[in-house]
Amino acid sequence: MIPFNKPHLTGKEAHYMYDAVYTGKLSGNGKFTKKCQDFLSSKYGFKKCLLTTSCTDALEMAAILANIEPGDEVIMPSYTFVSTSNAFVLRGANIVFADSRNDHPGLDEDSLESLITDKTKAIVPVHYAGVACDMEKIMEIAAKYNLLVIEDAAQAIDSYFTFSDGSIKALGSIGHLAAFSFHETKNIISGEGGLLAINDDQFSKRAEIIWEKGTNRSAFFRGEVDKYGWVDIGSSFLPSEIIAAFLWAQLENLDDIQNRRKSLWGIYFEGLKEWAEENRVRLPNIPQFATNNAHMFYLVCESIEQRTSLIEKLQANGISAVFHYLSLHKSPYYNEKHDGRELTDSDYYSNCLVRLPMYYELSESEINRIISIIIN
Ligand SMILES: *Cc1c(COP(=O)(O)O)cnc(C)c1O
Repeated sequence: MIPFNKPHLTGKEAHYMYDAVYTGKLSGNGKFTKKCQDFLSSKYGFKKCLLTTSCTDALEMAAILANIEPGDEVIMPSYTFVSTSNAFVLRGANIVFADSRNDHPGLDEDSLESLITDKTKAIVPVHYAGVACDMEKIMEIAAKYNLLVIEDAAQAIDSYFTFSDGSIKALGSIGHLAAFSFHETKNIISGEGGLLAINDDQFSKRAEIIWEKGTNRSAFFRGEVDKYGWVDIGSSFLPSEIIAAFLWAQLENLDDIQNRRKSLWGIYFEGLKEWAEENRVRLPNIPQFATNNAHMFYLVCESIEQRTSLIEKLQANGISAVFHYLSLHKSPYYNEKHDGRELTDSDYYSNCLVRLPMYYELSESEINRIISIIIN
């Protein structure tokens, strides 16, 4: 059986976890947390970043920082994971779902302006499959209407956006805030885990307070205040050092992991492109301004019937391929709250997109077997 995903271990995880356990610093914000945060900030150009227990938590922190209040509107694609919207719904927001681009599951930037009202507070682009949304256009629109941009970069570690002046920025370093995931299904993992990136200084101090349960404990330990107490709302968003130790072993091997995934992705792409063209199946489209971090390899079938039969054929051959999101505007929870607009491209990806196995230990010969089963 070729599974859809297999968590990859670099070999040092247990070693660093042992270190964390036996040096006796188990709670959060210790040596490994700092190592991970420093590494990620300097590699990707975040002004500041904080490890969290999940991307879901990082999004919840972002919603608190954005001061989302009941009745505020937040724009995001319908084709995304529930956490993208839950984080804002928990603060009382109404979600205004945008459609996907026709050539990519990410949010359709051209529809954005028509969705903005005087209640709109934030735009949440999701970099699906680690491929950038048009961040230049999104940031321009946000600036024009004075909105916050919170990137859902859960899948987007080590991926970049090129601006029209040629400058290049890492995803997650462009919006005011951004959330990453280290869930075991992502490229870089810690079981459960995430990161909040803060690119606008106005949020730095408060982010740390929200992270530490609404206290100024971090400032206290830096000697900036002489006692610490309850100064704001917050929750327990920071992971233990044991998780951070695991993550550090992954980050040390980031380039190796990324190179391996990109090479596997390339084999899929080369092996399937002729067949896909002949059969009107679409392969992932990487816009000019985006890079590919090889988070995911997917196909977009012509119809749900074609997809179902492909998944069944692969299953019968011991290969696990899976579809992805169901449009959130049609979900049992949000259906009634949605304003009734049809989002045809979101539904198209809900019905037709299928993800193929993608993980570090997948061998070239296994990929070639998957390719030949698809072609035949
Ligand atoms: C995985 C994922 C999340 C949630 O990440 P967790 O770390 O599991 O909370 C949120 N949004 C998107 C787009 C994701 O792919």
